Amino acid sequence: MRVIVVGAGLVGLSAAWWLARQGHEPVLLEQGPLPNPAASSFDRHRLIRLAHAAGDGRGRLIHEAYAAWERLWADLGRSHYRETGMLVTGGAPGDWIHTCRDGFDALGQAYDIWEPGELARRCPFLELAPGDFGLFTARGGALLTERIIADLLAWLAERGVVMRDNGQVVAVEPSRARAVLADGGQVEGDALIIAAGAWTGRLLDRLAPRLEPRRAVVLYLRPPPDIAREWAGSPCFLDFGGTSDIYLVPPLDGMDLKFGAGAHSRPGDPAAPRRLEAGEPEELLGFLRPHISGLDRYRVTGARVCFTCYSPDQAFIAGGLEGRTVYATGCSGQMAKFAAVMGSRLAEAATGGFDPMLLPGWARGELPPAAAA
Ligand SMILES: Cc1cc2nc3c(=O)[nH]c(=O)nc-3n(C[C@H](O)[C@H](O)[C@H](O)COP(=O)(O)OP(=O)(O)OC[C@H]3O[C@@H](n4cnc5c(N)ncnc54)[C@H](O)[C@@H]3O)c2cc1C
Repeated sequence: MRVIVVGAGLVGLSAAWWLARQGHEPVLLEQGPLPNPAASSFDRHRLIRLAHAAGDGRGRLIHEAYAAWERLWADLGRSHYRETGMLVTGGAPGDWIHTCRDGFDALGQAYDIWEPGELARRCPFLELAPGDFGLFTARGGALLTERIIADLLAWLAERGVVMRDNGQVVAVEPSRARAVLADGGQVEGDALIIAAGAWTGRLLDRLAPRLEPRRAVVLYLRPPPDIAREWAGSPCFLDFGGTSDIYLVPPLDGMDLKFGAGAHSRPGDPAAPRRLEAGEPEELLGFLRPHISGLDRYRVTGARVCFTCYSPDQAFIAGGLEGRTVYATGCSGQMAKFAAVMGSRLAEAATGGFDPMLLPGWARGELPPAAAA
């Protein structure tokens, strides 16, 4: 089948990969360059983790996600996953660590508790509040997303997949699997996959009220050499307690430490110029300073303004429209880790291998594995 894929972020590229390996003919349309640095997926890395709140179906779906990455690594001939382990810290009543532990317990997921002394010993670079402990899983780490995107583009190019850059889609006709381009051209297929990330509401009016594009800034930091030694072999971090919603990737693979804070993100327009505002690095450092000792000795080596998509309940929004048109959007800034499995599922749903009606429930992690297989 000829399948039009709108968007060359990780989800669209994964859908094209799945289609091509199943013998279909994907046609990839990307509004910007290939790769597009404005895509949510485009950054040095994104976190992948087992940790999810109790009741969040993604705690189950994540195992399907890992299996899909394994299939991708096999096809690419190398893995872009660095399994550092994932550590959540905190301890005060209301800290996310408790919700997360409940989530593990509900699913029977094994984890380790690092008592305060062990946490301080293993992570001497942390500034800990009295009673802070760690919740650790050996599974979890960083997906090197820029490298995944580069390899997927090369893999698709080698197989002769048609990929159009600067091919902005301004309208879609789901019943005809047709995309209308900004230059007036039209591209039609047997099926259509919409993987337009934070721009999805612009293409699909009916989804717009449920989608909120949000602007987020990440900072790259280089610790001084004495502290850099302490970071060697560190896990990735998720949430240091409190309400800042911090995520952190330690220095790895020659890349500097990266962090961001959910509390610093705000609604915005993904098409607006990506400018760092005066004072923003300092604002962001303010979220991290209580948790990292000697932070003022770290050097800021870079920053990136990114956009991602949110929904009111932060669940993924995916589904089928008329004809063979399907869509997905990564709400709550969590889709990178699910991109390979989401792209595969969309491709299956577009080509008749999975019921598109099941997509919404599957994306919420509500389907039992047998129904989703
Ligand atoms: C700061 C930050 C940190 C994050 N951290 C994590 C994390 O640790 N773990 C995690 O799992 N997720 C994380 N996310 C979320 C994750 O990056 C996204 O959910 C995911 O990359 C979305 O992938 P996508 O392919 O759906 O969208 P995108 O990567 O945005 O790709 C969509 C593509 O569609 C193109 N497009 C849009 N509209 C059109 C159109 N009309 N015509 C043609 N092309 C179009 C865009 O240009 C873009 O290239 C984070 C996001 C941000 C911003």
